[in-house]
Amino acid sequence: MKSFKYLAFAGAMMAGGAATAQEQFITIGTGGQTGVYFVVGQSICRLVNRGTADHNLKCTAPSTGGSIANINAIKAGDMDMGVAQSDWQFHAYNGSAKFEEDGKFENLRAVFSVHGEPFTVIARADAGIKTFDDLKGKRVNVGNPGSGQLATMQVVLDAKGWSMDDFALASELKPAEQAAALGDNKVDAIVYTVGHPNGSIQEAVSTTEANMVTVDGEAIEGLIANNPFYAAATIPGGMYEGSPDDTSTFGVKATFVTSADVDDDVVYQVVKAVFDNFDRFKRLHPAFENLTEEEMISGGLSAPLHDGAAKYYREKGWIE
Ligand code: GLU
Repeated sequence: MKSFKYLAFAGAMMAGGAATAQEQFITIGTGGQTGVYFVVGQSICRLVNRGTADHNLKCTAPSTGGSIANINAIKAGDMDMGVAQSDWQFHAYNGSAKFEEDGKFENLRAVFSVHGEPFTVIARADAGIKTFDDLKGKRVNVGNPGSGQLATMQVVLDAKGWSMDDFALASELKPAEQAAALGDNKVDAIVYTVGHPNGSIQEAVSTTEANMVTVDGEAIEGLIANNPFYAAATIPGGMYEGSPDDTSTFGVKATFVTSADVDDDVVYQVVKAVFDNFDRFKRLHPAFENLTEEEMISGGLSAPLHDGAAKYYREKGWIE
């Protein structure tokens, strides 16, 4: 009995020494490897993991299906945080559109918004597609299940009174596969709600001649007028080969979300890692270049701020 106690005591001494306290793992849901969400998650984790010795958090950001998959994983408790389009943050919190059946995700919490994401359509030059209406009867990659682009494409089709049957083919390839499909002439166009510049579109225009497609007209104007999370957007001319002029479309924001079930201190540390190293963060991807703290803690957020994030913003004097 005596020696047993002694061993337990020695074990406690060791645990309290160099081995430090228990590390806590946190997971951030991202998107396809060739998109920008993956870089958002990887960048946040890189900054968090620089401080593991202080806060004991270990962060990983695996590739996922995108917005809808991330929100569902957070709701199920399988992931702690994730990136999601502002339109799907709104609908998940309010139990509307695609989330009507599931009901309100009342514990969904906003952390901050990130870059803008234009609804992007790019087509093979030989397909003769200049505007969205030219997609009728064509082979279109509409986005993988779980992605924001597939969900938002469905909203666009509904607004126009179209359906997937209006395409000769509506494929659901992942971002990592879509550029090759365009290059191999398996599809005429791809749809991607994404920040710019990004690896997937860059890959597409370097494997084949392709042009950006204008997304405008009455249905799109209606979406923008009737929904706070949609806005007119432009993909700058000259950003990609084959598209020298600005392209008009509409867009959303990428946002960083979590659940009220995630500890305040965890979210506080993640937010602190990003904003204490904000210049470093902005250098990690060209789509982050013009981010400002002010815009990030207000724009595109419809769920309430997580208490841990609000605590940091209050300390900084950014919110009341
Ligand atoms: N907006 C896309 C989605 O919600 C992801 C874009 C990206 O990975 O950068 O699924």
